[in-house]
Amino acid sequence: MEVEIKFRIPDPEKIERVLRDRAEFVIEKIEHDYYFNHPCRDFRETDEALRVRKDVEGVTLTYKGKKIDSETKTREEFKVKLDNFEAARKILEKLGFRKAGEVVKRRKIYRDGDVIICLDHLDGIGSFVELEIESDDVEEAKRRVFRYAEMLGLGGEKSIRKSYLEMVLDVADSN
Ligand code: ATP
Ligand code: CA
Ligand code: CA
Repeated sequence: MEVEIKFRIPDPEKIERVLRDRAEFVIEKIEHDYYFNHPCRDFRETDEALRVRKDVEGVTLTYKGKKIDSETKTREEFKVKLDNFEAARKILEKLGFRKAGEVVKRRKIYRDGDVIICLDHLDGIGSFVELEIESDDVEEAKRRVFRYAEMLGLGGEKSIRKSYLEMVLDVADSN
């Protein structure tokens, strides 16, 4: 399971100062995400996701199941590496999947044990931090990501469940 929480952060530098001291820097990259909708199932309603991601590390196909609780973004997640973004897109489109939207973000990744910390920035939308543990012991992992958020000074903040795709689509709608 992908156990994940996300916060909007007004001051990413402040969070990063803490991370520099105690977490290991992994990579900084631009992620280009291309989301699909199912031909006979509306992923907005079923809360699923199908995505092809392209970044400097390669191309990844991801399926996400519906979120399983109301306070985190925890869900089933399956990922597979691909070697051709355009071909993957074509296969899905030929099968009837339709483009739902695109998201581009700058992501800095840190790791602290099995906690993955992503510092994300989306132009015109803002900066966010995501804390994630890949685990099947969901309750234990949830406790630890929330404890990690407290350590980063986010204890009083409300975690958000809105996806980057929804944020991007909201901005597109308001223009
Ligand atoms: P990851 O954590 O895998 O790196 P991310 O942080 O870039 O992903 P998230 O916002 O955490 O992006 O997850 C992608 C989101 O897009 C999912 O929550 C998914 O449900 C949402 N989504 C996918 N397809 C649709 C759709 N057709 N309509 C609305 N939302 C969708
Ligand atoms: Ca994640
Ligand atoms: Ca995420």
